[in-house]
Amino acid sequence: MEHFAMVEPGTRVDLSAIDPDFREGLSKRDEEVKRRRDAARDAMGDLQQRLYAEGTQSLLIVLQAMDTGGKDGTIRHVMRGLNPAGVHVASFKVPTPQELAHDFLWRVHRHTPRRGQIVVFNRSHYEDVLVVRVHELVPERVWRRRYERINEFEQLLAEAGTRILKLFLYISKAEQKERLQARLDNPDKHWKFSPADTKERKLWEEYIAAYEDALTHCSTEVAPWFVIPANRKWYRNMIVAEIIEAAMREMAPRFPEVDFDPSKITIK
Ligand code: AMP
Ligand code: MG
Repeated sequence: MEHFAMVEPGTRVDLSAIDPDFREGLSKRDEEVKRRRDAARDAMGDLQQRLYAEGTQSLLIVLQAMDTGGKDGTIRHVMRGLNPAGVHVASFKVPTPQELAHDFLWRVHRHTPRRGQIVVFNRSHYEDVLVVRVHELVPERVWRRRYERINEFEQLLAEAGTRILKLFLYISKAEQKERLQARLDNPDKHWKFSPADTKERKLWEEYIAAYEDALTHCSTEVAPWFVIPANRKWYRNMIVAEIIEAAMREMAPRFPEVDFDPSKITIK
């Protein structure tokens, strides 16, 4: 799949070379933005119906971002045009004691999509080379090995018929400041704020380094990473929908052939 936001497998990612404000020179109210967004959403809905009916392939969309990066908003946007019967969102929080008693892929593997289904991961197994690395929750020799384990895991899913898209919603540190402040200023958003967010913010550079390594080591042919310029929500939503649409078109799901002749059946 060709897309400018895709991390070419085998290339080193330098996030400072990517502009989180990028918007192709477009503005929110441009007709083109509305047209592209609606077109992608309509196509996704149609393709999903085929995927569901076909029942042989599945789609896994992994969403990662810094705090306030827009994971929830993106999910709301992407899900709008889809049939809820065929979609599932799995959110990964701080692991429970039971989850910690297993290997790091155990909790995610249970939520991978069944044939015909689309699953969106809100955070994912990548937390185990991001927050876990930044906070040194396990020694380096443990998290270092995980990039390769993740690639093998994703290869396994791909061989089982799962198409994998991994999207990093990339916002700037200044944008995060505004979004955190907005959560403090608006009582309806207080629940989204955690005092720990200000502590995580102090580790911004460490997180960027961890993201660069994850994107570099784990963008593969079967499971590419995309860096989405996400300072502008309308641009982020449009690009995400277009990337998903393009991947679904490549999957080319088809309605199954039936083994009866509909013209020979009379409904009395
Ligand atoms: P939120 O997405 O705001 O609900 O927060 C979920 C929190 O869970 C974030 O602070 C993540 O960093 C944290 N989290 C998710 N996965 C892991 C993990 N494997 N180990 C430690 N913390 C995690
Ligand atoms: Mg949070």
